[in-house]
Amino acid sequence: MSGGSVTAITVFDVGGTHVRRATWLRQGQLRDRSSRPSPSFKRFPAATVAELQDMMVRELCEAVPRTPEPVVGISFGAALDHRTGLVYASAPLWGEHSEPYDLRAALTARRGDVRWHIVNDVTAALLHAAAATDRSRHRKVLLATISSGIACRVIDQRQRRIPVDGCGLQGEIGHLPVHAELAGRPIELDCDCGKPGHLAAYASGPGIARMADALAGREPARWAVSGLGRPTADGTGFESALRRALDASDDLAGELLDAVTAPVAAVLRTALCLDPELDEVVLTGGVVHGLGHHYRRALMGHLTRQGLYLTSERSPDWLEQRITVTGPGEADSLAGAGIAASAGGPA
Ligand SMILES: [Zn+2]
Repeated sequence: MSGGSVTAITVFDVGGTHVRRATWLRQGQLRDRSSRPSPSFKRFPAATVAELQDMMVRELCEAVPRTPEPVVGISFGAALDHRTGLVYASAPLWGEHSEPYDLRAALTARRGDVRWHIVNDVTAALLHAAAATDRSRHRKVLLATISSGIACRVIDQRQRRIPVDGCGLQGEIGHLPVHAELAGRPIELDCDCGKPGHLAAYASGPGIARMADALAGREPARWAVSGLGRPTADGTGFESALRRALDASDDLAGELLDAVTAPVAAVLRTALCLDPELDEVVLTGGVVHGLGHHYRRALMGHLTRQGLYLTSERSPDWLEQRITVTGPGEADSLAGAGIAASAGGPA
């Protein structure tokens, strides 16, 4: 049986909390979806990193059917070498451990009969989003995910290629230094990676919560009577309190959203300025979906006030036309893993 005749591919989306599995058919459908908790250091606090990695590999291998010449696509939620599948770090799975891990070699050692294709989860989400017919004529598409972390990828649609640097990486924007302000003054917060002042420190899900704490500290009187201060004091979770306060046009919630979207707008503005071939910037991730239309409106507010030199004056809707938000299932890493595996690469 040749590789070309394979019709069903087992796909996984490995995240910090869940490992999702499905069967991907070449027509693009996902069948038999299931989900299990990830073997993370939070679930097994006594386990060593090597034991956690071994658990992961064993679970993945056991979930691949014993069919002739099986093919597997894995979307992996970690910074990894796009060319080889070498995992550089995964804080949600293994904590602050940063010893590179050869995931493909470990999988192959256990299941040498399987053709393993491993891609980063942002890459996988982009591969799925970029496969949509209305994006087929784009020159380049940038997908940015704003969730527990922040990252982006750019694909060149003409060659179906995601260029990478000498480490096999691209678009790790979450750890770019940015300028942030809150309540009219600059602010500097620490990032989860341990360094100060990174984009994710202000604009990821946990970053937004830290900015809210800082806002409560800077503006205690306004906070106490706001649509954020009252419900959170009564025990409402921060994320749902923020969404409800934005729905109710609460001033302080709007100010917080402006503050956390400003550095994202700055990075995207720079990306669009440096690469005129970006025909669409697609936003996805838990923060974007959770805050809905409020998120894009705040982002576009920054880009309308300060757009691209000359281009925004001559073509006022330039940015408006290029920045979109995904709907449910439009940038699915599980489907992207199938696309990567059926295309034969990478890793
Ligand atoms: Zn960082």
